[in-house]
Amino acid sequence: MGELRDQFWELPLAKLTRAEWEALCDGCGRCCLQKIEDADTGAIEDTNIACLLLDTGSAQCSDYRNRKAFVPDCLRLTLAIVEDVPWLPKTCAYRLRAENKPLHDWHYLISGDRETVKHAGVSVAGRVVSETDAGPMEHHIVDWDAADDGAA
Ligand code: SF4
Repeated sequence: MGELRDQFWELPLAKLTRAEWEALCDGCGRCCLQKIEDADTGAIEDTNIACLLLDTGSAQCSDYRNRKAFVPDCLRLTLAIVEDVPWLPKTCAYRLRAENKPLHDWHYLISGDRETVKHAGVSVAGRVVSETDAGPMEHHIVDWDAADDGAA
């Protein structure tokens, strides 16, 4: 990973280097969960079903470097996508910074500890099932934003 500038997370997203962009992720794992889109209304519901590559215990991608080979539609977040998609959680570091809001104090860049995203109840670690075991998606609808209102 390249050099990270001091307090880079306070800079506008467009000013971040690639390494800084990658380092901004809080590691919550929420964008690695399946969503159900209503074909008629376009409304999106969250689930607790994890991408097959997500380690459900740690909420980390088990093969981040090669993920596109296994999951071709895995979305690499870019500034344009962050500003466009409605489904990033309100706690997501990219969404917060796109809205010019500060990171939460449980973000590892602030706390200095990668575990605080779990203590704050924001990480999906240990709270999701893999898509390979899940069965019908309709049984797995979860309102994550309601679940973490205390943290956001
Ligand atoms: S939702 Fe945002 S902060 Fe959480 S893992 Fe995805 S990109 Fe990172």
